[in-house]
Amino acid sequence: MAIVGPESSYAERARHADAADALASFREEFVRPMRDGTPCAYFAGNSLGLMPRRARAALEEVLTEWGDLAVEGHMHAHRPWYRYHEDLAPLLAELVGAGADEVVAMNSLTVNLHLMLASFYRPSGRRRKILLLPGEFPSDRYAAESHVRWHGLERSECIVELDHSPLEPITTAAIIETIEALGEELALVHMSAVHYLTGQFFDIPTITAAAHRVGAFAGWDLAHAIGNVPLQLHDWEVDYAVWCSYKYLNSGPGGVGGAFVHRRHAQNPATFRLAGWWGNDPATRFTMPQWFEPVPSADSWQLSNAPVLALAVHRVALEQFHRATMERLRQKSIHLTGFLEELLIELGRTYPELGLAIVTPPSSKERGAQLSVRLAASCNAMYEYLLARGIVVDVRKPDVIRIAPAPLYTSFMDVVRLCRAVEEFALRQLPHRKSSHVPTK
Ligand SMILES: *Cc1c(COP(=O)(O)O)cnc(C)c1O
Repeated sequence: MAIVGPESSYAERARHADAADALASFREEFVRPMRDGTPCAYFAGNSLGLMPRRARAALEEVLTEWGDLAVEGHMHAHRPWYRYHEDLAPLLAELVGAGADEVVAMNSLTVNLHLMLASFYRPSGRRRKILLLPGEFPSDRYAAESHVRWHGLERSECIVELDHSPLEPITTAAIIETIEALGEELALVHMSAVHYLTGQFFDIPTITAAAHRVGAFAGWDLAHAIGNVPLQLHDWEVDYAVWCSYKYLNSGPGGVGGAFVHRRHAQNPATFRLAGWWGNDPATRFTMPQWFEPVPSADSWQLSNAPVLALAVHRVALEQFHRATMERLRQKSIHLTGFLEELLIELGRTYPELGLAIVTPPSSKERGAQLSVRLAASCNAMYEYLLARGIVVDVRKPDVIRIAPAPLYTSFMDVVRLCRAVEEFALRQLPHRKSSHVPTK
């Protein structure tokens, strides 16, 4: 007997939850990829978010004004290009819990990380170590290592990776213990706020405070956190943060990234920043001052004039978050991810031959809208099976399937559709059921 059939109690609960979902109408604001004439169930929004329908008109508007106004558009476009990025700051500030003067939409994530490392990794004397997560995303590791070498130092002396299996959740206590053991040798803690592989959401305020106690800075990569989990970067005294906008923020492939710099650093003229004319005070920018006069905000990290076409898409995507609010999104997200977890655990119990184990922590405080699932049965076969049925997830080495029910456009019935296909896979593709039970957690 199928446990996630259309008549199951799970399907009944999903229909109920969708009917009661205050955010349900947002789903229609997105274009979903089609498969055999049916829209896909999309669980890869942690990798590339879906396209907001309004993106097309927003781009058209800028293109039309470029054609009609040309250089005059800098000052006379409906939203003048000269200050276009400034309108996005309040929307980003809401998402990360900051003042609008502490955030800026610019560049891409890794570029912004380099800019932040130039400001916040200033090794001197014995204080020169950078603490990274085990199994941190490669781009962050490459960036950190290149700064160490740029300062003429050795990777082996300066990069410390937490000693831990990359697929196991890490306790805050273990991180703090490492920070304290490094003590005055620690220059910087740089961590992903939500780990791309395990989906673990770390305790940002506690870890940041521990870094500060030993005299180090704490910077956060929000690639998988922004638009996913609640953040209060200002109150948490975070030194810097960087993010991209194409994952949960749905702002398109290679979309404009962003950065947060705490006001105490941005307003401090002694804070070193790599300079460009767009970081100069806009009041004097076009008087072409001889030397850099940074505007006392995160805007001073901008180097170049802003990519207005990409920002136009980013703006409409951020406005959706403003209307939905992070509070409501988080509420739905906890509910939806919990529902997915419940079904997966049930499937793992009923079909032990799947060898299904959830890697992501079970507490909603320690995760966002992603469950990472290890499968003893072939991950690639499962991935292909789902994709052929219009269900999009992704696979990461060694044997992890990441499933992200992004609450802006995912329904409870999408979760049922996914789990029904997982069950079919177990019944059809894995015919030799073993009697032994594999623990699901
Ligand atoms: C997605 C992601 C990136 C991507 O970097 P780009 O510079 O935008 O290509 C970097 N770091 C982490 C942790 C990510 O998840």
